[in-house]
Amino acid sequence: MPLEIVRNDITKMKVDAIVNAANESLLGGGGVDGAIHRAAGSGLLAECRTLGGCKTGKAKITGGYNLPAKYVIHTVGPIYNDGNQGEKALLESCYRESLTLAKEYNCETVAFPLISSGVYGYPKDQALKVAIDVISDFLLENEMTVYIVIFDKAAYKISEKLFSDIAEFIDDNYVDEHTNYRRESIRMNAPMAPCAKRKKADVDFLEICDCKALPLEEDLDAKLKQIDESFSQMLLRKIDEKGMTDAECYKKANIDRKLFSKIRSDIHYKPSKPTALAFAISLELSLVETEDMLRKAGFALSHSNKFDIIIEYFISKGNYNIFEINEALFAFDQSLLGA
Ligand code: ADP
Repeated sequence: MPLEIVRNDITKMKVDAIVNAANESLLGGGGVDGAIHRAAGSGLLAECRTLGGCKTGKAKITGGYNLPAKYVIHTVGPIYNDGNQGEKALLESCYRESLTLAKEYNCETVAFPLISSGVYGYPKDQALKVAIDVISDFLLENEMTVYIVIFDKAAYKISEKLFSDIAEFIDDNYVDEHTNYRRESIRMNAPMAPCAKRKKADVDFLEICDCKALPLEEDLDAKLKQIDESFSQMLLRKIDEKGMTDAECYKKANIDRKLFSKIRSDIHYKPSKPTALAFAISLELSLVETEDMLRKAGFALSHSNKFDIIIEYFISKGNYNIFEINEALFAFDQSLLGA
């Protein structure tokens, strides 16, 4: 998945580069900066001393020393004042400059902490939005896997409004489903008249056999020849209908090129549910079309789990931004969309 939000300690990430939320001196500090210096060892500070500091919004690179990461990219986030002092532009610049450096050093995997969101006071939900926006823009043009590393659950919050809207939507749908489910099970458990039972079974059988006197094998053969378009065929058709290029589609789906090629070359490819949904979101399919695409992969949307309800919430709002959807899924402890 090109962009992933993970919960971890960034010093443990086995990636080509981790990003440090440093201060202008580059000589170490508290928070994530302190943790990175402690884990990297004194060699890191020695190299940082040779760099002559770093301006806010800029980035510089060093080795990773004792860290599992090969490089550390040091960037200096803005101190948050009231949001009207150019903080957003500076924070965006931190992500862009760090990604540009990572690309220059041929990094394929990069991990970011939520820059400025600790001691520097940038509101966490807004800091996360800036991170997601800049990284996803970059990924539209570049092949890289980028992790946003959230240190602890308390340090993470999507906007209150979005959270409560989704929570309400989940509540409503759970209630509906459970009420229906209860009604359904009462009906299912009620004794059924034997003839009614037989009638239903007969109808099913006639439907299968199409009421003709064909030998079963031949008929099955005929049925199998009418097999529906596969997931992969539907995906490629929809890409064409929407006038998208393949790359536009898989990038917007947060799916990497290799997986897309696999799906493209195998018409019987069976994707996972998150992958199938990621494409539905990327193609901006309606709820009905999404269900259709999911069915082709052998899945359905159900009101019995939060993951599905959250997806339904975003589709019904016409919000097809996969990164925002993943942000919400993460907040509700659900698996993320994409490969
Ligand atoms: P800043 O000064 O830029 O605000 P901080 O280090 O105070 O930097 O905090 C930036 C973010 O890094 C915070 O959200 C904090 O929770 C997080 N953080 C702190 N330690 C770690 C760690 N070991 N791994 C990942 N994130 C961390």
